Amino acid sequence: MHELSIALSMMDRIREESVRHSGTVRSAHVRIGVLSGVDSEALRFAWEMARAGSELEEAELEIESVPLRVRCPVCGVTRTAEIQSIACPHCVTPEQDIVEGREMELTALEIDS
Ligand SMILES: [Zn+2]
Repeated sequence: MHELSIALSMMDRIREESVRHSGTVRSAHVRIGVLSGVDSEALRFAWEMARAGSELEEAELEIESVPLRVRCPVCGVTRTAEIQSIACPHCVTPEQDIVEGREMELTALEIDS
C-alpha cells in the first residue's frame, strides 16, 4: 500500500517542523490532485495507522482534493475536466496541458506551542 509510505514520509517532515516550532501538531493540511495516484481514503486510513501511539497521535489529517484542470493548447481555454473526457469541448483537441490535478503536497500545519 503506497499510501502508507506517503503517510510515513509526511510524518517525518511534520516531525521536523514540530521540533523546529517545539509544539504539538494539531492538524496537517494536504492537497491531493485527482491524477496524483494517491487515494484520499487510503491515505486517511494509513494516517490513522501511522499516527497511533506516536507523538503525532493528536494530529488530524485535512485533505483537500484538487480537481483536474487543463488548458487547451489550441484555443487557450483553461477549464476543469473529467479524467474520462479530457478533450477540449470547443475544438476537440485531445491533448490538453495539465494545469492542476497532479499535486500531492503538504500545505499547512497547525502547531500548538
Ligand atoms: Zn480547444
